[in-house]
Order: sequence, then C-alpha cells, then structure tokens
Amino acid sequence: DPRLEGISEAIRVVPHFPIPGIMFQDITTLLLDHKAFKDTVDIFVDRYRDMDISVVAGVEARGFMFGPSIALAIGAKFVPLRKPKKLPGEVISEDYVLEYGIDCLQMHVGAVQPGERAIIIDDLIATGGTLSAAIKLLERGGAEVIECACVVGLPEIKEERRLNGKPLYILVEPR
Ligand code: 5GP
Repeated sequence: DPRLEGISEAIRVVPHFPIPGIMFQDITTLLLDHKAFKDTVDIFVDRYRDMDISVVAGVEARGFMFGPSIALAIGAKFVPLRKPKKLPGEVISEDYVLEYGIDCLQMHVGAVQPGERAIIIDDLIATGGTLSAAIKLLERGGAEVIECACVVGLPEIKEERRLNGKPLYILVEPR
C-alpha cells in the first residue's frame, strides 16, 4: 500500500523519552498531518467496514485518537478501555505486567453485549501485554475479538500477525 510510507514518515521518533534508551514513536505528528492521519483511519475503515463489527474498543490514551473515527465510519460503537479510577460506573478490571511493575485496564460493565464482534485499537504494540489485557476484558464482557489493530509494531510481532491466537493487524514498523 503506497500510503504506508507517508504514514511511517509522519511519525516522529523522540530519543530517550520517557527514559534514557527508549526511541519513543510519537504519533502526535501523524495527527498533525491531515493526509497521513486520514490515510491511517481509511486503511482501518476499509479493512473493517464489511466485517460485521459492532464494537471498536480503544486503549487509553492513544487508542482514543484513532478508535472513534473508525467506529463512526464503520457504524460501530466506541468502547474506551481505561486506566484505573477513570470510569465512573461499575467496571471489570484486568491487571497486566509491564517491564517495571504492574498496570491495569478497566471497562464499564454493560459496554458490550454477549456475542458482539469487536476490534481493539491502540497506537503501538511492543510486548503485547496491553493488548492481551484488552482482549481478556472484551472476552469477559462476552464479546468476540475479531482482530487487534495497531499503527506501529515491532518487526517480529508484525510478521507473527497473531497475539494470543487473535489476528493482529499492524500498519508500519518503528522508525
Ligand atoms: P506493550 O504493552 O505492547 O508492551 O506496550 C504498548 C503500550 O505502550 C501501548 O499502549 C502504547 O501506547 C505504549 N507505548 C510503548 N512504547 C511506545 C512508543 O514508543 N510510542 C508510543 N506512542 N506508545 C508507546
């Protein structure tokens, strides 16, 4: 897809953020580039529009920057998966292990109905820990996770094209 090069080039790499040694992939510059931003959303919309998807779940915070546009375009609802103590209603929680410590994602009870077909979107997959927790949350809610979608993924995981048995769709590799 010729659009992928422009998408990749619109992502800024910030060395040593948030800690020394990390080459941070900054997608805010992609959001500043109308063509690259639209191409990103369009590619996901073209892929998912005819797959009978009724749920687009986005991972806080950068999954919120792509998910709602995709959801509106394919006629699905948007479900935010949030960090603890952000959602006001009754929640289900899924803890996951990070390189340093533990984190948690939460979803409102009742956000998805049993049998709904869902995709999960985030900006970047590294270890896959975050998206694995997201898959578990959706499944505990009774949804069927059809695919996880990311803008950026490491080459190894991009080639693998699966995460915990679920299909994984990644647009570009880190720069
Ligand atoms: P994982 O759980 O796959 O190891 O890490 C993925 C999560 O960390 C995603 O929610 C993603 O937003 C965040 N993340 C880790 N590294 C980067 C990075 O270099 N750039 C961006 N934009 N997000 C990152």
